[in-house]
Amino acid sequence: MTSADILIIGGGIVGLATAYNLLQRYPDKAVAILEKEKNLALHQTGHNSGVLHSGIYYKPGSLKAITCRSGKKAMEQFCEREEIPYRICGKVIVALDENDLARLATLNERGRANGIQCRVIDRSVLRELEPHAAGRKAIHVPETGIVDFPQVCSRLAARIMEKGGRIFTRARVVGLREASNEVIVNSTLGDFSARYVINCAGLYSDHVASFVSPASPVKIVPFRGEYFQLKPEAEPLCKALIYPVPNPSFPFLGVHFTRQISGRVECGPNAVLAFAREGYRKKDINLCELFEILAYPGFLKLAGRYWPTGLAEMWRSASKTAFVKALQRLMPKITSDQLESAPAGVRAQAVALDGTMVDDFAFQETHRVVNVINAPSPAATAALSIGCSIVEKLAQRF
Ligand SMILES: Cc1cc2nc3c(=O)[nH]c(=O)nc-3n(C[C@H](O)[C@H](O)[C@H](O)COP(=O)(O)OP(=O)(O)OC[C@H]3O[C@@H](n4cnc5c(N)ncnc54)[C@H](O)[C@@H]3O)c2cc1C
Repeated sequence: MTSADILIIGGGIVGLATAYNLLQRYPDKAVAILEKEKNLALHQTGHNSGVLHSGIYYKPGSLKAITCRSGKKAMEQFCEREEIPYRICGKVIVALDENDLARLATLNERGRANGIQCRVIDRSVLRELEPHAAGRKAIHVPETGIVDFPQVCSRLAARIMEKGGRIFTRARVVGLREASNEVIVNSTLGDFSARYVINCAGLYSDHVASFVSPASPVKIVPFRGEYFQLKPEAEPLCKALIYPVPNPSFPFLGVHFTRQISGRVECGPNAVLAFAREGYRKKDINLCELFEILAYPGFLKLAGRYWPTGLAEMWRSASKTAFVKALQRLMPKITSDQLESAPAGVRAQAVALDGTMVDDFAFQETHRVVNVINAPSPAATAALSIGCSIVEKLAQRF
């Protein structure tokens, strides 16, 4: 049996950032990562928009608000040190109607409460920043940036291994047993023993948590986010990042335009129920996983509450015309033939038994296992800071 002081399940950005932080603070500890795929960062981390979020959206004092701010700073410093390209390109959040105008002021105040240098701008300033964006007013957030998170992950992995950390790929965890002085981890690569385990399994974090805490308070519901991208000749239509004012009832930000560090411009995403946790294509169905979600009372309550929005999202998924219409609200000039399809991503959203979508980052702990049970956006931006908080939790037990 292979042993480690601390074993991390999941080689996405949260698992890697945690291992990196652990080895920075405790270079003598034996740290290992188990990842089920043959490469790291193939799921949420490898399918995201690459935005270094400022933290404007999050409730002041929440973990999201705090770790997004500190994590973004830490991520920028890591990129500087490691010479990983990132760009502080700024972002505009545009108000398209009366409702948005009312929400814009509240959002700007929230941003300021979170320590962000944001400001409300009128149409003429918006035109200078993003000549093709619609909007009567907007919030300008100059400090929002873009980066390639998978590139960050491969550098984190290299630094982890330099410091003696071990990374096992093709190692799917299939069971955990917590004893008084160790945790036994069963994987497809064999059994491991560790003094402490950190579950960073993203879309499967609830499954892994259920090995040690069968009465998990939440279930992960996978929401696929589908994208188009601008064809190269249309890319000049978007200079940086153009977002709508989000609906405060939902954790998703609405379809938007995102210039990526590669120069391409991503348009989307919508949010539809994925019929498999790693269902990136409409035709991907895993009957067991689908049944598990449809039979979950929390999902049924959520669906009962928000079915009109759900249907609208499904319609946008089925019809390119409907998707383009949503994009045209932000950029009236855009036409269907300027868009080509782009890869989708699947978000892991924890839903509680009463049907609420868990808004903040969330952990569930036993004595020897820390489960990260909700790490949706902006967890890539915040990863280094989330990793630090997890190390802090363990430090009290060493
Ligand atoms: C479409 C989309 C756009 C987003 N845009 C942004 C953005 O612009 N900025 C931002 O900050 N955030 C963004 N996010 C959120 C961000 O990508 C995620 O919050 C973050 O990547 C979560 O990282 P993670 O390590 O928890 O999960 P993941 O990256 O999903 O990693 C979990 C890992 O665990 C592994 N695993 C699962 N089960 C097991 C098992 N049993 N045994 C071993 N390994 C296992 C998986 O294979 C996977 O590699 C976006 C997310 C999506 C989906």
